[in-house]
Amino acid sequence: MGLARRVVGHRSVIRLLERQRAEERIAHAYLFTGPPQVGRRTLAWAWGMALLCPDPDPPCGSCRSCRRMEAGHHPDALYVAPEGNSLKIDQVREVQRLLALTPVEGPYRIVLFDAAEKMTTEAANALLKTLEEPPSYAVLMLIAPSPESLLPTVVSRCQVLSFDPVPILEVRQALQARWGVPAERADRLARRSGGRIGWAVQAAHDPEVEARYEERIRQIHRLLTQRRWERFRFAEELAGEEEETRQAFLETAMAWWRDVLYCAAGTALPLIHEEDRRRIQRAAERVGLEGARAALEATRRAWIALQRNANARLALEAMLLDWPFLPEEDFESERLPAPGILLDVSGGMP
Ligand SMILES: [Zn+2]
Repeated sequence: MGLARRVVGHRSVIRLLERQRAEERIAHAYLFTGPPQVGRRTLAWAWGMALLCPDPDPPCGSCRSCRRMEAGHHPDALYVAPEGNSLKIDQVREVQRLLALTPVEGPYRIVLFDAAEKMTTEAANALLKTLEEPPSYAVLMLIAPSPESLLPTVVSRCQVLSFDPVPILEVRQALQARWGVPAERADRLARRSGGRIGWAVQAAHDPEVEARYEERIRQIHRLLTQRRWERFRFAEELAGEEEETRQAFLETAMAWWRDVLYCAAGTALPLIHEEDRRRIQRAAERVGLEGARAALEATRRAWIALQRNANARLALEAMLLDWPFLPEEDFESERLPAPGILLDVSGGMP
């Protein structure tokens, strides 16, 4: 129960870890995989906290060990993230020097490698030696998007636990109950989060996060009415952005096309972008089921291509060629009736 107090969702992973602790079968190395901001790092750190906490139902969150874990300066726990663009061999060597020493306070030494997919080959090979013969007290945790993003020899030494998106209802409830977000906003953020609780919590606290989301939606609207050269100019701009920005745009676009597809199919399911239903409905009427499916597929292909380091500009251009061209009036904001119409109405009254 201790872990579930600190983590939203991921109950099957929590059950498995708590059983391991109860049976004293803690693994020396874990690999937590799943999409970013779904809760991998939060759960990994809470697991480290639980292993070091003396409470019978750990982590208690209030003992000296837990408080030091929360503050990020427990002498037996180390958080390692990429320096610049990669996790380097020097960082792994430093971890190895630390692991050579027995724990200062608790029964374990915990090391968490964030974004382990950014480990250089030399670093991964150095780490492999530790994974092959870990000290009895070592618990290593690696975080990565998928097992395929790491060397197979590293993966084979780890217990792999995969994280699914948290159900939308659970995200909404957690936003309301744990973070005090009002119901309507919690509902909107939960839908837009796609089950990434970390994004939802961040968006709840930082208006900029949602503002960027809204801007992506407006950009999608603009692109649909733009001509080919304008779309290509956008492809070039987006290709020059950070990976995170490109992924965020494509993920928002996939969610938007999913809504169009649902509308075109006439399902009664709630939309991710319920607030944009009018435009989504019009797009669905124009492009139909097949058009929506094709646009969604094209977007997904670009998203996958970018993850595989394909030429970003070409992938984005190909996607935008497959998106339909829609008339501008579909995407204009709601306008007040023109004065002439008002006059007509009043003039027609008896
Ligand atoms: Zn504690």
